[in-house]
Amino acid sequence: MRVLFVSSEVHPLAKTGGLADVSEALPKALRAHDIDVRLLMPAYPQAKDRLMTQGKPIALKNVLGFDDVALVPGLLPGSELPIWLIDCPRLYDRPGRLYCDPDGKEWHDNALRYALLSHVAARVARAQAPLSWRPDIVHANDWHTGIVPALLSADAASRPAVVFTIHNMAYQGNFPASCLDFIGLSPHLYHPEGVEFHHRVSFLKAGVRYADRITTVSPTYAAEILDPEFGHGLEGVARLRQGDLIGILNGADYSLWDPVNDRHLIERYDRHDISGKKACKAALLKELMLPATSNAPLIAFNSRLAEQKMADVVLEVVPAIVAAGGQFALLGEGERRFETAFVELARRYPDSVSARIGYDEPAAHRLLAGADILLAPARFEPCGLTQLYAMRYGTAPIVRRTGGLADTVVDATPEALHAGVATGLSFRDVSAAALGEAVRRAIELFAQPLLWRRLQVAGMHADFSWECSARRYLDLYRSLRPEARLRRRVTRDHTPDDDDSYGGRVVNSR
Ligand code: ADP
Repeated sequence: MRVLFVSSEVHPLAKTGGLADVSEALPKALRAHDIDVRLLMPAYPQAKDRLMTQGKPIALKNVLGFDDVALVPGLLPGSELPIWLIDCPRLYDRPGRLYCDPDGKEWHDNALRYALLSHVAARVARAQAPLSWRPDIVHANDWHTGIVPALLSADAASRPAVVFTIHNMAYQGNFPASCLDFIGLSPHLYHPEGVEFHHRVSFLKAGVRYADRITTVSPTYAAEILDPEFGHGLEGVARLRQGDLIGILNGADYSLWDPVNDRHLIERYDRHDISGKKACKAALLKELMLPATSNAPLIAFNSRLAEQKMADVVLEVVPAIVAAGGQFALLGEGERRFETAFVELARRYPDSVSARIGYDEPAAHRLLAGADILLAPARFEPCGLTQLYAMRYGTAPIVRRTGGLADTVVDATPEALHAGVATGLSFRDVSAAALGEAVRRAIELFAQPLLWRRLQVAGMHADFSWECSARRYLDLYRSLRPEARLRRRVTRDHTPDDDDSYGGRVVNSR
């Protein structure tokens, strides 16, 4: 089976968050099943610098009026995964972050930048690019690739099937209707049952509306997005496609995120001998210029600084952490108001609080290993990866019971602790009181070494490797092969309530 995996970011070439981690790890896991999976993403400058190129660029003629577009073939560093970078210097060769200019403002032409990514994907899918390779499945990810299913929807039945994965329903790629003049999408699709969303063109809606199957990254989130609270206005179209929507939990790539083999750590450790974690904590405190105290828990926050991640609520809770004798370390970047407020707290509590603003992958590894507790709250969370990583590092996550956080962390109730299944702490309400109470419980547990050790070991033992989830994607791809699609159509014609193994319900991946 041949799969074209299209994503706007892939670790280690370019990353702003979990999408990049998934776009590396899932294709790697699929390849282990002998799937011929190839990646497609924009040639951002950092991606070009890091790519191991293989062969000459392949010129593409006139994509959305651009004549200098080329596919740069290569291998994803650290893997055998083939990848094509889409070189289009006028759109992708820029300073700043992937989606924003150096001042943090979204690039004015993001509609065009990601329409081009989608058009190139459609060309490869249709074998219109000068390549001797054609996929059976196109797997498109998030709003940046949302118009791929729309572009392919008009094609004959022989086209590749399209799977569209929602990694975050809140980022929708909504643009003024005037973008229809240059994004190469048929104006016939611009209506409320198509790509129109409140008089704008919505890339995410296009993906949900036209893909053959839609997945999202945890079973709970798959159910939540049918609800106005989590659907961000797209709950209606999600409900319309409910029969084709499934939740498959993300995994963690333990070849990168495991203290047994983490090259970023000063000492390695595992659940049988956790002593190396002490050295990691000592080194981290030194790095952060926080005093080493023998029994103060170090509570970390490694996150995009956004309302989604409850950065505002975390800010409220930090003084209570300090008052309880804990230390707090932030590694994050995002909204300026949050960055400034965390820096201010570090100034106010120099012995207890550290705030590192910026994006630093090795520092994230050191933080997760050296901390005792990770704050991973969220107003909504499609899956969340940091809580998975934290558990493997013996760092207890504190999460809100929503989305993938609810699916992955077992709260340390007395019963769960007793049974040895508790892996972290969770709370329900979006409030400083609820988060503060969870922190208080965590600090209390931390002071009881035997119980704490039990919590750590259960977390380190939990297995969120990609193996299981990759199998779910494989089953999904197989159900979309032409024979299976035909079978499904025939069955549908005869029984409207057809019981296709993926139809009509949200499937739990584990
Ligand atoms: P998101 O919603 O941001 O995708 P996830 O938990 O799914 O959240 O994934 C976040 C990923 O980004 C993790 O790999 C985490 O370590 C990483 N990350 C977030 N902020 C930073 C940062 N400032 N520096 C380094 N890595 C970061």
